[in-house]
Amino acid sequence: MPWYRQPHWRILLALALGLLYGVVAAYAGWGAFTAAWIAPFGTIFLRLLLLVAVPLVLASLITGIASLSDLNKLSRIGGKTIAIYLGTTLVALLIGLVIVNLLNPGAMVPDNLRQETLQGDVAEREEMAAEARERGPLQPLVDMVPDNIVGAASDNRRMLNIVFLAFLFGVALMLIPKEQSAPMLGLFESLNAVIIKIVELVLLFAPIGVFGLIADTVTGVAGDSPEDVLQLLGALGFYCLVVLIGLAIQMFVTYSLLLRLFTPLGLRQFFRGIVQAQLVAFSTSSSAATLPVTMKSAQKNLGISEEVASFVLPLGATINMDGTALYQAVAAVFIAQALGIPLDLTAQLSIVFLALLASIGTAAVPSAGLVMLIVILESIGVPAAGIALILGVDRPLDMARTATNITGDVTVAAIVAASEGSLACVGAATDRGRAAEAPSVTLDS
Ligand code: ASP
Repeated sequence: MPWYRQPHWRILLALALGLLYGVVAAYAGWGAFTAAWIAPFGTIFLRLLLLVAVPLVLASLITGIASLSDLNKLSRIGGKTIAIYLGTTLVALLIGLVIVNLLNPGAMVPDNLRQETLQGDVAEREEMAAEARERGPLQPLVDMVPDNIVGAASDNRRMLNIVFLAFLFGVALMLIPKEQSAPMLGLFESLNAVIIKIVELVLLFAPIGVFGLIADTVTGVAGDSPEDVLQLLGALGFYCLVVLIGLAIQMFVTYSLLLRLFTPLGLRQFFRGIVQAQLVAFSTSSSAATLPVTMKSAQKNLGISEEVASFVLPLGATINMDGTALYQAVAAVFIAQALGIPLDLTAQLSIVFLALLASIGTAAVPSAGLVMLIVILESIGVPAAGIALILGVDRPLDMARTATNITGDVTVAAIVAASEGSLACVGAATDRGRAAEAPSVTLDS
């Protein structure tokens, strides 16, 4: 198939055109037109993806867990997955902390911006801060357990509830006699297949959706006065750069190293295989919305077995957010630097701990990481009002960290699959050279 017909090139082109349009629209004052006539296509695309997120997580995790056939296998794969997820998040946090301390982007913030931040809408921020303070230390654990199936399924932000429910359901299915579990399992397998088909259909619409999303994001950030954006970008550009450098290190050093050490996959094959998922993550800013594409890419392009993919990836989309954790560490220290609040080693270590927990609890939807940042700031004694400093540039960083988040999920899925001997299409498991040459299957082939 010619390159321009390959899905990821079409999405990339749409991304570039959307960006170009957004900048022109901002300068030409087409903000209202864009919001009325262009943005809805992006919203529809996002909605369609989110529409299938809950049933997909539920169906794939339940079938994934039940297919592990016994509790021993579940605890082996589950233990491995969670341990590697935590490990990669920890590495991301350390990278974030080291670079933000070394590069000290907070020092670049001009004084007037600092003053404005602290004076801003005090009442509203106080209220948010008070809410964050009222949450007890075990609240995230309590929040994980749903008290109502419909309630849990009614809000994409409560994906952790769905994961919990799927775990219970999958384990119970595994424990009852085969004759009784078979119909239920068949039902969820069929649901899974239907959802995947819906995703294929939705993806046909991806370039238009991506164009709408990006155009809207650019004009939304720029408003009708792009000069303001430039000023803001000037002050915060270095902070953004630090976050982006951190994300790049995580993606191209940490993950690449892990893939080289623990899987037979070639790096080119890996990154080519997931580029479409990365682009969808980048344009939707939501790991949950991207999950269907992530799962398809992992299975079709990288040969990760369905058994591993359907267990590791939905779990990862919900609890593994390396990009978000890294961003939260950088943002927290940056805000403290900008406001002139020194953070000692204990405070920095508590950032590691808090961001580790926060990234697990962060919903896989746009801007969720920013909301969780408030909790972290409150806990280390930095005024939550400080997030006003970084609000303006959050969206592009959200896009980049979401792409990192899903790359981390697929990396771990590949490692787990390799360790279980279930990296299917990579024929010669020890022959990296040949693996790199393996033809990569594209989604709409
Ligand atoms: N948007 C991110 C995601 O869905 C979460 C965040 O960092 O805001 O992965």
